[in-house]
Amino acid sequence: MSPYSLPRVEDYEPYIGAAAVERILRKGESMEDFHIVQVSSTYYGGGVAELLGSLSLLMNQMGLRAGWRIIQGSPDFFSVTKKIHNALQGSDINLSEMKKAIYEQVVYENALRNHFDQDLVIVHDPQPLPLITHYKKKSPWVWTCHVDLSAPNAELWHYLLPFIEQYDAVILSLREYSRQLKVPELFFMPAIDPFSLKNRDLTESEIDERLSRYEIPTDLPLVVQVSRFDMWKDPLGVIEAFRLARKEVDATLVLLGNMATDDPEGEEIFRILVGEREERIIVLSMEDSGLVNALQRKASVILQKSIREGFGLTVAEAMWKGTPVIGGNVGGIRHQIRDGVNGFLVSSVQEAAARIVQLLRDEKLRREMGEKGRKAVQEKFLMTRYLEQYLDLFGSFKTVFRLDYRPGS
Ligand code: UDP
Repeated sequence: MSPYSLPRVEDYEPYIGAAAVERILRKGESMEDFHIVQVSSTYYGGGVAELLGSLSLLMNQMGLRAGWRIIQGSPDFFSVTKKIHNALQGSDINLSEMKKAIYEQVVYENALRNHFDQDLVIVHDPQPLPLITHYKKKSPWVWTCHVDLSAPNAELWHYLLPFIEQYDAVILSLREYSRQLKVPELFFMPAIDPFSLKNRDLTESEIDERLSRYEIPTDLPLVVQVSRFDMWKDPLGVIEAFRLARKEVDATLVLLGNMATDDPEGEEIFRILVGEREERIIVLSMEDSGLVNALQRKASVILQKSIREGFGLTVAEAMWKGTPVIGGNVGGIRHQIRDGVNGFLVSSVQEAAARIVQLLRDEKLRREMGEKGRKAVQEKFLMTRYLEQYLDLFGSFKTVFRLDYRPGS
């Protein structure tokens, strides 16, 4: 017996039922030995890494051969790709020839180093997007985009489109991100792994131990936001809302963030937030999944006050723990929170403050919303649903491409 423990589809039975487990396993069997590779730009920090870590292991547990590669890049490269990411979410960009040259050169270097002869290649997000231009395609390629595409910068979109339309299909997080592409668009909302260190059950003493390790006081209710240090997560808006709320109810705010290797803006945002620290405003930069878990469980209220959000895994993570979430009324957050039912959606600092006060004053409401939130995640946002969407896609490619695809064409 293996000394290692990894979640299997069967472990999801208490949450999704025996029939769903059986169905997914059957789909997996039909794909046995199917060889795929996923390509992204960081192993940790951010939702894509979180997703791919769990998804690739689950696929391998089922008998597929699912690899995961990371592209390498210089700080210059990641500085450009972060600007591209921001512009995809609607920011302005000075799309100079120099930026394009850095972007395309580094992707070319990665293409030289990576040899893809798998049955399917899945490329994630804009950083490795142009890879496809450097291969004589022998199998289908899919581009998955995790960012909020509701209003991309037009000039940037025009530049990226020729890369995007070389793919055989594009996966977006939400139907409303559709760009009416020439290639098929699919819509897969991300999902969480309930067995990971970040999401599994914790005992009270495990929670307390983790919080006390970082000297997080628990004498007052905790209001928490867990997010990469990124302007789209509106951490300053969170602080402002908390200060307003605190005029009415006492509490402690914790902003926990991390930095991803592909996000050079994190340090600057962290520095700005450090300037806002007070006795009851705690700003932590830490890479610790157990701490994320403990905070999401201990918090009376979780905030995810984003102003753009592709999906927002942190929302599902907190809802899974039965903690009510106040989220920005944008992107994927809208698909997770039903306003006033299992959490609140807000569009301003004032609204966020009012909802913080309301929730902190009403334990029954917190409990009821928390229970409904957990149920929503159980029904819609567990990893098996995401896995099954991929298995269906692989199945359709297997049929279509085995019949029609001519290698090298
Ligand atoms: N995260 C973390 N530690 C932190 C901040 C974030 O582990 O200090 C994780 C968070 O729990 C979630 C992921 O990073 O799993 C963020 O995913 P999300 O979709 O919310 O946002 P993204 O960073 O991809 O924009």
